[in-house]
Amino acid sequence: MKIVILGGGTAGWMCAASLSALSATRRFSVELVESDEIGTVGVGEATLPHIKAFNDGLGINEAEFMRRTHATFKLGIEFAGWGRDAYIHPFGTFGQDWAGIGFQHHWTRAKQAGVPVAPIEDYSFAIAAARAGKFAFPDTDPSSVKSTFAYAYHFDAALYAGFMRDFATKRGVRRTEGRVVEVQQNAENGNVTGLKLQSGAVVTGDLFLDCSGFVSLIAGKTLNGPWEDWTQWLPCDRAFAVPTAGTGEITPYTRATAREAGWQWRIPLQHRTGNGYVFSSAFTSEDRARDVLLANLDGAPLMEPKLLRFRAGRRTRSWSHNVVAVGLASGFLEPLESTSIYLVQAAIETLRHYLGGRPDDPRAQGAFNRSVDTIYDSIRDFLILHYRATAREEPLWQHVRDMALPDSLLGRIEMFRHRGYIEAYRNGLFSPPSWLAVYMGQDVVPTGYDRMADALPMDLLVEKLDMLRTRIRDQVAALPTHEATLASFAPARMEVA
Ligand SMILES: Cc1cc2nc3c(=O)[nH]c(=O)nc-3n(C[C@H](O)[C@H](O)[C@H](O)COP(=O)(O)OP(=O)(O)OC[C@H]3O[C@@H](n4cnc5c(N)ncnc54)[C@H](O)[C@@H]3O)c2cc1C
Repeated sequence: MKIVILGGGTAGWMCAASLSALSATRRFSVELVESDEIGTVGVGEATLPHIKAFNDGLGINEAEFMRRTHATFKLGIEFAGWGRDAYIHPFGTFGQDWAGIGFQHHWTRAKQAGVPVAPIEDYSFAIAAARAGKFAFPDTDPSSVKSTFAYAYHFDAALYAGFMRDFATKRGVRRTEGRVVEVQQNAENGNVTGLKLQSGAVVTGDLFLDCSGFVSLIAGKTLNGPWEDWTQWLPCDRAFAVPTAGTGEITPYTRATAREAGWQWRIPLQHRTGNGYVFSSAFTSEDRARDVLLANLDGAPLMEPKLLRFRAGRRTRSWSHNVVAVGLASGFLEPLESTSIYLVQAAIETLRHYLGGRPDDPRAQGAFNRSVDTIYDSIRDFLILHYRATAREEPLWQHVRDMALPDSLLGRIEMFRHRGYIEAYRNGLFSPPSWLAVYMGQDVVPTGYDRMADALPMDLLVEKLDMLRTRIRDQVAALPTHEATLASFAPARMEVA
């Protein structure tokens, strides 16, 4: 079977790298078509911890990957200006589940009883380390408080795509440079048969992965796949992006700062900082957005801000006919929780289960689409929660506070407020600690708690809370700084830039 990938951005080359293992079986061949003239979207630098599993699965050396992509470590995302105080969504847990009951129930109980209890952030190792600017690898011993977190990376998106390209081409993936001017289809069943290049050459194949970015040349433009629009919940539709000289602190976390008509990201790499302002064109002008971004940088801009346009939503059927849309061609959710590269990874890992059958098998399509849809939908709700629960007064924020929520989210917020109960999404991306971080960070505070927590004697609870907090504080104090760990483990190899 021949698999053709259209597009050489992060999505295309991640697919190629992952599928390159199949080339070795000799039952599959993989060819990727990309156009240097068109280029890539050029953003996408903050990730989730899952990327480590993706790289590890390919057998990639972590230090080598970090040196080549100028990567830094990431323990979570700081949200400034969203709730009353800045808060961090950590890649780690809050406290421990005592007697099988979630930590938030014990914490709420102690707080309501009026006993001395610290802010919930103080019981998260990942948050304490992030705030202190520290980083060391997690312990493997599950009894250690240093095992209660995971980590991701910030990296240079172009260098990462190049790194994946080297990996894939060395393992047998064929690269063809050229602009696709026509998508050829079987007249009877509509399946795609080949991609005609400007040169006149035609790249034929059995299964096509549409990784052509926002243009979605095959799944969107050719097959006209329906699109589910989510602008009514996520009205941001533009971003200005600009890198700055790396003069600020190399924080081990991404920062997302709420602004008058959207929010601004700060992503520290080893050699520079990525910045951008995601905004809604219904609530501000492009000129004003550009000015707001430039007025809020902590280093000198290295180029003119670049404008990107998008729409929140997803393709209703990512896999249709013999075409699978991956990456921006399959949908878009603003990068508030750094989820797009994860969505690429999830799509490839799901697709790999179904390769080998007919490339237009409706059963495989159904299973794949259901799985990808669930992940998209759960992320959509998680993002909406950030917008919903703010006290900001500008028109965008009033609009999002008053909008009707998807039913899937409304009931969950009510359950948390009422009982501290976190209803996770089956097969969704974010687990309960992530939801807890955003709920509490944005002042969605439970009025009740699981009464099973009352079984723990109060004096014992107070002692446990105190011990846990002390252990976290002492162990974080002993960690090396993030910058020291970077310098010893994976200093950027600057000649690659
Ligand atoms: C403002 C913004 C910020 C983002 N931040 C993050 C983030 O922090 N974290 C994260 O995970 N994700 C982020 N993303 C998403 C992330 O950038 C993308 O998911 C990721 O880069 C994958 O893009 P892609 O490969 O699908 O598309 P692209 O990078 O656009 O690649 C498309 C490819 O298709 C090729 N192509 C298109 N048409 C043709 C043609 N006719 N012929 C030949 N080739 C063609 C292009 O040349 C290119 O190689 C962000 C996105 C935006 C818009």
